[in-house]
Amino acid sequence: MPDLEWAHGADGREWALDAACGKGIGPGPDDFHAKSRAKREATARFCVSHCAVRLQCLEDAMRIEAVCGSRFGVYGGYTAAGRDELARQRQRMAAVLESTDGVR
Ligand code: SF4
Repeated sequence: MPDLEWAHGADGREWALDAACGKGIGPGPDDFHAKSRAKREATARFCVSHCAVRLQCLEDAMRIEAVCGSRFGVYGGYTAAGRDELARQRQRMAAVLESTDGVR
């Protein structure tokens, strides 16, 4: 969940100012840290369904995770497992495009 100080201070993350999770939409902040994984994910999915910057959020998480090598939480409506699968799909697509020089 991006906070406003973080968004103001980070170049290229101005989109986070429009994040639904930073505007108190839906469940309270404690629900993002509930003991139940199902509840945490349900909270995140509710917020993302009302979020105008979900694509930017997803791409930001994917970029950071590609560097740090670990995934956690729900960003852009994707769980860690969902982003892992998306990353694999992108790698497969990149390999196909590379092997065909982008022409099919
Ligand atoms: S997609 Fe979810 S985590 Fe990302 S900014 Fe929007 S509400 Fe927050």
